[in-house]
Amino acid sequence: MYDPKSMKADEFIDHGEIMETLAYADQHKKDAALIDSILEKAKLRKGLTHREASVLLACELEDKNQEIFKLAEQIKKDFYGNRIVMFAPLYLSNYCVNGCTYCPYHAKNKHIPRKKLTQDEIRAEVIALQDMGHKRLALEAGEHPTMNPIEYILESIETIYSIKHKNGAIRRVNVNIAATTVENYRKLKEAGIGTYILFQETYHRATYEQLHPTGPKSDYAYHTEAHDRAMQGGIDDVGLGVLFGLELYRYEFAGLLMHAEHLEAVFGVGPHTISVPRLCPADDIDPGEFDNGISDDIFAKIVACIRVSVPYTGMIISTRESPKVRERVLHLGVSQISGGSRTSVGGYVEPEKEEESSAQFDVSDRRTLDEVVRWLMEMDYIPSFCTACYREGRTGDRFMSLCKSGQISNCCLPNALMTLKEYLMDYAAPETRRIGEELIAKNMNDIPKEKVRKIVEERLDKIAYGERDFRF
Ligand code: SAM
Repeated sequence: MYDPKSMKADEFIDHGEIMETLAYADQHKKDAALIDSILEKAKLRKGLTHREASVLLACELEDKNQEIFKLAEQIKKDFYGNRIVMFAPLYLSNYCVNGCTYCPYHAKNKHIPRKKLTQDEIRAEVIALQDMGHKRLALEAGEHPTMNPIEYILESIETIYSIKHKNGAIRRVNVNIAATTVENYRKLKEAGIGTYILFQETYHRATYEQLHPTGPKSDYAYHTEAHDRAMQGGIDDVGLGVLFGLELYRYEFAGLLMHAEHLEAVFGVGPHTISVPRLCPADDIDPGEFDNGISDDIFAKIVACIRVSVPYTGMIISTRESPKVRERVLHLGVSQISGGSRTSVGGYVEPEKEEESSAQFDVSDRRTLDEVVRWLMEMDYIPSFCTACYREGRTGDRFMSLCKSGQISNCCLPNALMTLKEYLMDYAAPETRRIGEELIAKNMNDIPKEKVRKIVEERLDKIAYGERDFRF
């Protein structure tokens, strides 16, 4: 029985409800009157239900689809301005006991080199990341109770936060590790993590069980209820995602929104982020074997529909996508992107040769962070290295109320400009710096409060003279 407030996976992600939703969406995919009314509701910027959102995703009326895209762009601008938050993944270990059939880390893969970073190696990786200019990381690891126990993850987080190389610092560590216990989530919270991210992979239970034949991850309910346990453990910023390509995308989309509704219903705050990874080629993995791959056009529509359905949720895209696709979806709603990423264990210090790669997937966007930063600025986006919210205690519903109050432009814009200035001073190539300085000057006028603008001007001067880490 469908119940968004239930704590049971099968009840808040109810298969019957998804099937009915898909049938309803199919029935109304050319219903201009209904689609108009859903678009009117979406314009209020308070979100849509999974049913309404599914109708938009299924919509086959070309003019209405254009309206969806236009609205997504507008909502993106209103909530996130032209800021794009930058991050990089850090792979700690690819030892894994699970049998996920789409992932090269699966336990039966005997030819992938297995690696686990020592604390000294982590130090070296973090220095390499700091020297690129990164301030925010997403930690990644396979699931292995003895090789990668929670103590290893906690020690690694402590190491990462402790490293201050030149002007560098990692100020926010997000964590993407396997589903775990409330007690372990509490420990992660105490270690000072930002968002806990866990991808559902697929919301379709039968498919999930088929794709995860062995290992702890094969327990669908334990995995699906993980974000609830994370919230119970005190982590109030959690990230959702599905791996597109494994199941029919409309099913996944409905499941994803139901999951967001569940978090809102139970904890009063929806997901902090939604990631939209697509299945990629990788060692021992041929995406052709999975027959639910989606085109770039459908991918763009999914992003747009997520944007209009959950306006307060950040959207993340990784280097799984090419520069071209990334450019397209930035306009439609993506607010965080990775840059200069290496998906191999130890890859920032020592890039691996392809034939001996421990990488999790093949990266499509191979540009350096500086190239990505410049590319964003040439499109008038402000690359932001801001980590202020969580360090100021603005997490969970406090973050959401900042969004809802519209105060974001007095807070996030200044923080974005100040952290970009740090990047330009410490890491940028001369041409990147030139473009960046112009961009900062231009965007100063968009800070609404004069008092705040004055403070930002002073702080930008101080950054030029070597001071760091200002924030609102
Ligand atoms: N091991 C952890 C878990 O099981 O949730 C999380 C870390 S895993 C390094 C991060 C994500 O990479 C997975 O959740 C999955 O969605 C994604 N992934 C795995 N294989 C992939 C592939 N071949 N292409 C693209 N993404 C993949």
